[in-house]
Order: sequence, then C-alpha cells, then structure tokens
Amino acid sequence: MLAWELARQGRSVALVDHGRAHYSGPFETVLGSTRALWQRMGLLAQLKHGVIADPLRHGAIWGSSEMMWREGDEQGLLLQRGVFDRAFRDAAREAGATVFEGVRAEQQEHHWLVGTERLVPTFVAYATGRAATTDLAKMTPVGPATTAVTALGEPARGDRNTAVVEAVQDGWIWTHVPKDGEASAAVLLNRDRLKDHSAEEVLAEVFATALGPGSRFRNWRVAHANDATMGERCVSSNLLVLGDAAATIDPLASQGVEKAVSAAGHAACAIATALEQPEWWPRLCALHSRWELGLQAAHRRSTFTFYDQEERFGEHAFWRRRMPPEDPVDLVGGKPLRLIPSVHTARVLMRHGPRYIEVDGAMDAATGEELARVARVPVAPVVSVFDEPRTVADAVALASKAPSLFVLSPREVHEAILQLVARGWLVPGN
Ligand SMILES: Cc1cc2nc3c(=O)[nH]c(=O)nc-3n(C[C@H](O)[C@H](O)[C@H](O)COP(=O)(O)OP(=O)(O)OC[C@H]3O[C@@H](n4cnc5c(N)ncnc54)[C@H](O)[C@@H]3O)c2cc1C
Repeated sequence: MLAWELARQGRSVALVDHGRAHYSGPFETVLGSTRALWQRMGLLAQLKHGVIADPLRHGAIWGSSEMMWREGDEQGLLLQRGVFDRAFRDAAREAGATVFEGVRAEQQEHHWLVGTERLVPTFVAYATGRAATTDLAKMTPVGPATTAVTALGEPARGDRNTAVVEAVQDGWIWTHVPKDGEASAAVLLNRDRLKDHSAEEVLAEVFATALGPGSRFRNWRVAHANDATMGERCVSSNLLVLGDAAATIDPLASQGVEKAVSAAGHAACAIATALEQPEWWPRLCALHSRWELGLQAAHRRSTFTFYDQEERFGEHAFWRRRMPPEDPVDLVGGKPLRLIPSVHTARVLMRHGPRYIEVDGAMDAATGEELARVARVPVAPVVSVFDEPRTVADAVALASKAPSLFVLSPREVHEAILQLVARGWLVPGN
C-alpha cells in the first residue's frame, strides 16, 4: 500500500518482499466500513484478485449461549491472503514501483543489495509484519501470550456460508465455512494452554465445549499455529516502521489489515514530507511510531470492552487475563491535575493534507513526544491553562475563554484533557 501510494505520487519506489510471509489462515475478513473506504480510495479497483465481497453470514455466540446473527451490516470483504498480497504488489508495480519478489534486501555499507541489484534509497520503511526482523528491535508484548491454532476440516452441511465467532471457556473460535470445500477454524488460546498438550488434544477439548460450527467440525487437521499476542516495538526515531511490524492488535478486532493500510497512508505522508525536509526525518519516524502506538492502544481498549461482554467464563484463565486494566482517567475524579514538568508548549509537526507542517502545540522534552491536537482540540492552549494545578471542571471553564478553544464544545475540551491524563502529561496532584 505504501509503495502503491508513493508510486502514484510519482516517487521512485522499490518494494522488496522475501516471499516467506506467514499468514494467519486462508482467509481474513475486512469490515464493511473499511470496504467503503477502500472503494472511495480507488483501491478496490486496483485489486483484481484475492478480494471478494464477503458472501458469508456473520454470527457470534458471545456473552450468552445464543447464536446472534449480524443482520443488516454493510457487507465486508473476504481476503484470500497470499493472492490478495500478490494483487497488492501488482497494483504497486502498475503504479510504477519496482517490485522485487522472493529476495531479501541486505544492507551494505553504502547501499542495499537486493538480489544482484544495488539500491541507494533516500529513505527505507519496514512493513515486515509481526515476525522477528534482525534490523528491528524486539517486539514487547502488551497483552497475554496468545496462540492462534488453525484447523482445516469438514463442516456440517447446515453451517455452510457462515463465519462465526464463539467464546468458549479456554478462548474463542473463529469458524469460517465457505459454500463449498474445506472449512477453517482458528482457535485463540493462552499460549501456556499448549505447554503440556499437543495442539490436536487441546483443539479436540475446545471443540467439545463449543455450541456453534466448531462443535460440528469433523475430520479436521491442524494446519498451523501463529503467534497472536498483542505487541509493539519501541518508538523509533531513525527507522520508519509500520503495520504489524510497529504494533499488533488482537485478531478479535478483524482490523489488522485495515490498520496496516491506514498506517501506509500515514507513512506515505511522512515520507513525502521528509523528501522536502530531510532534517525532519527522525521527528517524522518518531511521530509515525507514536501514531501506531496510539492506534494500537485505542484498539486494545475496544478489544477489552468486547472481552468484558463475556461473563460466562470469568473464572477461567483465558478470560481472567483479559479483564480491562484500570483506566488512569477513572482515578481523576474531582482532583486537581498538574502538568508534568517536562511538558511545555512548542512548535510541533501536524499532518495537513498529504504533508506535515509545523504548528503550535506541546512537547514532552523527556521523550520527544510532540502533539498538535487531540481530535479537533489544539493542545497548546489546553496545556497553557494548566500553568497551575486545576480540576478538569475549572480547566474547561477557563479554556472556554481562550480564543482558539471557545468555538469548541466544553465536552470536546473535557475529552482532550482526559486524553492528556491517559497520555501521562497531566497527573493528579498540586
Ligand atoms: C489469527 C489471526 C487472525 C487474523 N485475522 C484478521 C482478519 O480477519 N482481518 C484483519 O484485518 N486482520 C486479521 N489479522 C491481522 C492481519 O493479518 C495483520 O494485521 C496484517 O496482515 C498486517 O499487515 P502488514 O502488512 O503489517 O504485515 P504482513 O501482512 O504480515 O506482511 C508483511 C510482509 O513482509 C514480508 N517480509 C517479512 N520480513 C521480510 C524481510 N526481512 N524482507 C522482505 N520482506 C519481508 C512478508 O513476506 C509479508 O509479505 C489476523 C491476525 C492473526 C494472528
């Protein structure tokens, strides 16, 4: 997506894929809202293979033993991974990128060696997925160690044309039963559940506790297992890292591909800016990293909310480890908040159309984190309100007098203050 986007802008791009991708399963789904977005971006017209309108009826057994069918939802997409990925690379090639498939890129002292070609790129971006890559820092887990085991087998005839998510005591099962052919069932488990037992033994036990299509799955075999732990790489100010290589989300969201595609749009904007202002490259890399981590944190919060809806298995290890963590915002109450000493107003970078520009904002001198806005709210005047400790209510009242804030609703300003608390910039205390 990044190569496609930059090539469309007329930039000179090389895309290198070593051809050893490790997909989660034969299919992944994309939500209806993303489908509409991709259509608007002209992306669907480019992707000729491996993408179809999702023909399956989606259902969930979650929070109760009843099957709930999702009716009336916008139709999503079914991605045939591998075929979809090649179609994307073809689209980049058609847009003008040079695409290398089945080779590695090796960094030499003054150039990169890609097969027999020598490349001297101005900037390099890593979109290498969740697998370990020697060039990048190790991934830090930010959720329980999770494995997804995928089995392929024969579904019951009545389960044809369905995709069902089912919560069971040891995890959850995602069955995918096309009109014809084999069905797949991905089973998400705590990794230690597989410590003393084979994947076959564990899956047999899991399917025995299921009520939906998983319970009727026959003659199945384990196809593969994937790490599905939520993880993130640290903020990088010298490498542009995007998609799963930057941060992974829980597969329950079904939004990993959407996240990777929007990350590519964001990274394209960072690269386009750096080509004009190369001295901003470290700031742009760090800004992109933080954007990835912020997006992942938002996904994490919504995944916890979803896990929280399942109350039947609260005493089982899988569900205990997925209880929502305490939210720092909940600790605020009516207490006064103060700004941490390292945060001050500064000129910061903000995305503006296809580029970054410098605007008034605030920065944490200890981490280099820069922030221009929280949603529509400019950060500089909000930070200035906290020249002394104030309660949220007092700060909102005072902020409403600032010329750049009074056009906004008090609710938006209130929300922005709480976001600064969640970020650790505002803390309770005098
Ligand atoms: C069990 C499970 C189920 C999931 N289900 C869904 C779902 O239904 N919907 C959804 O949207 N998301 C789902 N996801 C998440 C989704 O697969 C990822 O979020 C998404 O593929 C990330 O895209 P990416 O481009 O960052 O990385 P990837 O898709 O992993 O692509 C990385 C690419 O980099 C290449 N590469 C790696 N290392 C190198 C190297 N050193 N040199 C050259 N090339 C290299 C690989 O060949 C690969 O093509 C699921 C994940 C899991 C674990």
